[in-house]
Amino acid sequence: MSTTESIAELLAQAWQLAYLDPLRARDIGRQVIERTRHEPGSVEAGHGWLHIALAEVRLGDPDLAKQATQHARAVFDRIGNLRGVCLADEVRAISLRRSGEHVASQQLQAEIDARDGRDYDDNDHFIAHNSRAITHKLLGRNDEALRHFHHAYASALRTGWPGPKIVALGNLGGFHHDLFNLEDAKKLSEEALALARRMSVRQVVGNASANLITIYHAAGQPERALAVAQAMLSEPDSLLPDALDQLSTTLALAFLGVGDIESAERFLSRGAQRQPADGDGIGLWSWLQARCALARHDAQRAEDVARRALEGQEQGRISVQPYDLMQLFRAVADAREQLGDLAGALACTRRAHALYEELVGRSARARYIALEVAHEVASARHERDQAVLSRDSADEDRRRLAELNQQLQATLAETASLQAQLREQAVRDPLTGLHNRRHLFEAAPQLIELALRQRSDLCVALIDLDHFKAFNDSWGHAAGDTVLLAFADLASQILRRSDVIARHGGEEFVVVMPDIGIIDAMAAMERLLQAFTAMPLKHGRQSLPPCSFSAGLAALPQDGQTLDQLLSRADRALYRAKGGGRSSIEAATPGERITII
Ligand code: GH3
Ligand code: MG
Ligand code: MG
Repeated sequence: MSTTESIAELLAQAWQLAYLDPLRARDIGRQVIERTRHEPGSVEAGHGWLHIALAEVRLGDPDLAKQATQHARAVFDRIGNLRGVCLADEVRAISLRRSGEHVASQQLQAEIDARDGRDYDDNDHFIAHNSRAITHKLLGRNDEALRHFHHAYASALRTGWPGPKIVALGNLGGFHHDLFNLEDAKKLSEEALALARRMSVRQVVGNASANLITIYHAAGQPERALAVAQAMLSEPDSLLPDALDQLSTTLALAFLGVGDIESAERFLSRGAQRQPADGDGIGLWSWLQARCALARHDAQRAEDVARRALEGQEQGRISVQPYDLMQLFRAVADAREQLGDLAGALACTRRAHALYEELVGRSARARYIALEVAHEVASARHERDQAVLSRDSADEDRRRLAELNQQLQATLAETASLQAQLREQAVRDPLTGLHNRRHLFEAAPQLIELALRQRSDLCVALIDLDHFKAFNDSWGHAAGDTVLLAFADLASQILRRSDVIARHGGEEFVVVMPDIGIIDAMAAMERLLQAFTAMPLKHGRQSLPPCSFSAGLAALPQDGQTLDQLLSRADRALYRAKGGGRSSIEAATPGERITII
């Protein structure tokens, strides 16, 4: 293992190896602990401990498993990582089960299941279901066990990792075999064996092979059972070191099935050395012994061996699987028949038949549950796919909406600026840049209304450039434009910013002056007139003669209360100014000027 791999990469490897190669997963766990020694409370450190725990619990050092589990749980608990806490508890539940505390293990698992927000990934689900399946199986709850084995398999498939898939297949096939559902058991175990061989998962190669031997035998295919046995014997390296010893009874079955009694007996005598310590296989071993004895016409020995096993089972000393129990009764029946005890033979045949019916019932039920879970898994997958689809399409919708929104915002901004531009254009005079008549007639009434309400001053001036026709005629229209522009700039500079200066048309301008009385308005106009007449005017390089204007002024409220009234009064004053010789300013109500002074 390279030290350049990141901790995240190491942990990813450990998860994949947890069931394929617990030793390596444990070593990775240790390596992670070493590399996180400066951060012993990190989530990575928690996972390091978790892998040590998970491997030790399977490799069989309960003390190390317990310690590592406690470390992992403490780390996850401190950082509030619920998934980690739950996974540590999963390992604790496996520990409890391994030490025979099946009920406590099942209770802990139920407790974990009651927690919300565990956030398990597919592999976590595989571990949880697999472990629950085994616990239920040991508690004799076959339906629940089978359901969990199926869900473990479905979760394992979703991980896409070979380790969980091989283990799940092997376990599921094995359990269907236990339930005498030979059809499913055969398919699953064949797949498990092929995959385990390919991936060199020695534990599963051994278990799946042994399952297949018994399945083929029970299904009346002894040649196939023998082929599996021969493959095991010819490739011992594909198995765990002591597998051939551990599985010798099953190997005996393969040889017995094809009538090779000698080989069968050889394997049985190998198995006999272990049988007393391993109650689990004694049922199988006993009926095989009985069958060999029958083949050798030793009915008494056959009856003795099989009956002893049956007594052991009845007294609770040994536990015998229903299939093996059935075979034991059959062997005793055959032996008794050969011994002339027909009544005893019939009794045993009846017991065997009852067990057979029970097994067929189990098998049918197992098939039913298998189909039911397959349906559940398929519809869960369908729902998930649908959810993913609708989430994806919702995401797509949201993305599209955001895009449209962005486009819309851009369009709106563009439109807004265009509109602002248009508005500006609509309210501005293109030559002078001053407000136009349109704006004047929009803005002035509001200013007048405000002034009336606040009883504040407001004056309106109507300005008309003097002899402008003549000016144009003498200097040209373009020179005239320059003068109009120069006047506009000057007015904008001299008058107040709050004044509305508009080009009323031609060489006429209107100024609306809020907050200013007639005297000050007159003074402002006079300042403007003086500045204008004093203004050096140039058109290109050509100097122009000075220009002047005449203005008429009207004041709110005495000269009128609307723009039209005020303009009309200002116009009359302007007319007077023109009549008076031009370059002058007249108020609509001249008397008032005097009055105020
Ligand atoms: P008065 O002193 O009596 O006002 O004489 P006036 O010549 O200024 O008056 P009139 O109304 O007879 O002529 C207005 C002239 O203003 C006519 C026109 O050529 C000129 N004028 C109007 N609009 C523009 C413009 O946009 N540019 C230029 N260069 N001249 C304009
Ligand atoms: Mg005019
Ligand atoms: Mg004029």
